[in-house]
This record gives sequence, C-alpha cells and structure tokens, in this order.
Amino acid sequence: MAVQDYFLPKSLDQALDLLVEHGPSLLVMAGGTIAMPLINDGVSMPEKVMGLRHAGLNTIRRDNGTLVIGATATLTQLGQQDYIPMLQEAVRHIGGWQIRNMGTVGGNLFAPPPAGDLAVALLALDATVTLASKKRGLRTILLQEFFTGFMTTALAPDELVTEVRVPLPRGKTGYVKYARKHANTPAIVTVATHIVTEGNKVVDARLALNAVGPHPIRAQRAEKLLVGLPLNAENISLAAKEAAAECDPSTDAIATDWYRRRMTEVFVRRVLEHLVEQE
Ligand SMILES: Cc1cc2nc3c(=O)[nH]c(=O)nc-3n(C[C@H](O)[C@H](O)[C@H](O)COP(=O)(O)OP(=O)(O)OC[C@H]3O[C@@H](n4cnc5c(N)ncnc54)[C@H](O)[C@@H]3O)c2cc1C
Repeated sequence: MAVQDYFLPKSLDQALDLLVEHGPSLLVMAGGTIAMPLINDGVSMPEKVMGLRHAGLNTIRRDNGTLVIGATATLTQLGQQDYIPMLQEAVRHIGGWQIRNMGTVGGNLFAPPPAGDLAVALLALDATVTLASKKRGLRTILLQEFFTGFMTTALAPDELVTEVRVPLPRGKTGYVKYARKHANTPAIVTVATHIVTEGNKVVDARLALNAVGPHPIRAQRAEKLLVGLPLNAENISLAAKEAAAECDPSTDAIATDWYRRRMTEVFVRRVLEHLVEQE
C-alpha cells in the first residue's frame, strides 16, 4: 500500500487536529532522515503521512538563561547558534551535511541507538522537552523521563514534541563521539558531560552516554561518585570504571558489548581529563 494522503499543516494547532482526526495511522515526519529510508525499504508502509516542516516549530531563541529549540529546527540551524558550544560539537558529529540539513532536533530524540548523538548532549545539559496535545495542552518533562526504553518514549499517541529547552551550562562541558571513522559514522560510544566545581570540589555532575544502552542514558552512579570530591586522576578513574559498570551495551555490526563497555571507561576518563586540562 502506497502513501494515500500527505498532510502539511501550517501550524501546531492544525498538526494536533490532524493527529486527533487520523490517530496512530498517521505517520509523523520531521526531516524524514529516519522515516523515509524505512518507507523506501518497505519496512514502514504508512497510508497517511504528516510532514511538520511548515508547522512553525523551527525557531531557536535564547530566553534569559535558557536556549529554546523548536522541535523541527534542523541540526544545521542548531550548529549555527553559539550559546552552547557543546551542542555545536554534537551536531558536527552527526552524519554528513545532507543529513544535518534535513534532520531535526526533535527527530534525534526518536533515533534508535547508536544514533542519538545530539540527544545525549541534551541529556547531559538537563534539557526538558515540551509535549503538546489537543486535549491536554502543553506539558514539560525532563528529557531523562522522556526516554522509557528501546524505541519507546513518554510521548502519548496524540502528542507532538514542540520544543526542547536547555539551561545554559553553569560549568564545564565535554563531548566525544568515538566511532570507527572520524566522520559520518555510527558511534561505538558517545560521552557528554557537564561538571560544575566550587573551589576544587565537584558540586554537580552530569555524565551521559549513548550507544551503550537502549537509549541515551545518564551514568548516575558515576555522577554521584564525583560530587563532593576533587576532579583528579584518582576520582576520574573511579568514575570512568563506574560508568562502564552501569552502562548496558549490545553487540551489533559495529562493535561487541564487551568493546563498547571497555571504550566507555576509556572515553569517560578522557573527557573528564580534558576538562581538568582546560583549568
Ligand atoms: C546516512 C545517515 C546518517 C546518520 N547519522 C547519524 C549520526 O551520526 N548520529 C545521529 O544521532 N543520527 C544519525 N542519523 C539519524 C537521523 O538522521 C538523526 O537522528 C536526525 O536527527 C533525525 O531527525 P529527522 O527529523 O530526520 O527524523 P524523522 O525521520 O523525521 O522522524 C523520525 C520519527 O521521529 C518522530 N518525530 C520526529 N519529530 C517529531 C515531533 N516533533 N513530535 C513527535 N514525533 C516526532 C516520528 O515518529 C518520526 O517518524 C543518520 C541518518 C542517516 C540516514
């Protein structure tokens, strides 16, 4: 069965109306870089598709201490802001420029691992996600609560992601995507961190990992281990080991679970060491 209807709503309101009218049989598409290959391969055979590109959700603005990113802002657009350099760094590591020109920030939240290279940076920055439905209006949840399992999220069938809000970082940030090639390649592990120190002690730590779990995850035991301690070689090494112990990698064509876990330790250590070198 080929696509019978293609809808291109001109506002969020129209998009939500269409969702109510057509229900789950309506495939939502933003940049289409995940959805279209599945249609081309016949893996997904939707009768109805709704494109979000004209729904007015693509602005990026600064609102006091928060960067507000519309769900359909492209990765290229995000790479052009300079309020949060870690997000620019994350974008640079996603696909090639064609993918970044089409792929969206909202779409990256639905990308199955090892994709999700932007989502992991957003997780380390304590981003929130705003969801809209016709019946219940808007609700905002932590990105951490948005991810519920492998290819499952807290999004209800009648909801759309409208924006991602990112508090401007108070501390130092670090990001590394380790892969088999330097560019346009899936991750073996991606590490994103945000560390706040006072004096010589860590007062707040975020350590997020991608490609080593069912979705981008926080290494919360490693984070807790760092808080209250100096960011020195000994504590970094303990946190890196803990992060490797608490991740949950799988084996695929890119790497084994053993190798992913091992590289998690190596790259968490390197990212944290790099933060110390910046001091
Ligand atoms: C060659 C290639 C290389 C890639 N490389 C990388 C990479 O290195 N790193 C990486 O992280 N990803 C990579 N990707 C995956 C993908 O391109 C990105 O994750 C991109 O951000 C997805 O966004 P999109 O708008 O194209 O998603 P779409 O395909 O438009 O959307 C995917 C699904 O997400 C849901 N969705 C999207 N937006 C919304 C919304 N606003 N509300 C509700 N649901 C929504 C829908 O269910 C939709 O079907 C690659 C893809 C390709 C084809």
